[in-house]
Amino acid sequence: MAAAGSYVHIEYATAAELVDRLKAGPADPAARDFVVVDVRDDEREYDGHIAGSLHFASAEFDDTLPRLWPAIRGKKAVIMHCALSQVRGPSCARKLHRQLEALASQDKSQRDAAPELPTIFVLERGFNGWAAGGKPVCRCGDMVCKQSVQWPW
Ligand SMILES: [Zn+2]
Repeated sequence: MAAAGSYVHIEYATAAELVDRLKAGPADPAARDFVVVDVRDDEREYDGHIAGSLHFASAEFDDTLPRLWPAIRGKKAVIMHCALSQVRGPSCARKLHRQLEALASQDKSQRDAAPELPTIFVLERGFNGWAAGGKPVCRCGDMVCKQSVQWPW
């Protein structure tokens, strides 16, 4: 589903779509062709997170954005979320989108070397929707979660 208007084009993914991706891909998050990026701030610490997700807090996103590129390079998709995916998630997704476009046009000026850019999705209803829907929550304390999702079903 696409957002209307002149804003950067942001795609949305539902929790069910993310579950399908997680179940279809390898259990090891590093081996997947997509990355889940959590841009919540302190809530990650208290509320847990989606197993295998990276943490790039929205408050520091401008500063940490350069560190995100190596983590998503070569991936097909980046699925971003905050608590509700209404403000911070889409805002960080737009920043990432602009950054990728800039990288792509840089590479284009060096001819044909344009990298495959991942599609950026925002997880509908965010982490709160994920947890409220009974999806598994990881409570490790790592900024780069290396756990696989433990499916209760
Ligand atoms: Zn974890």
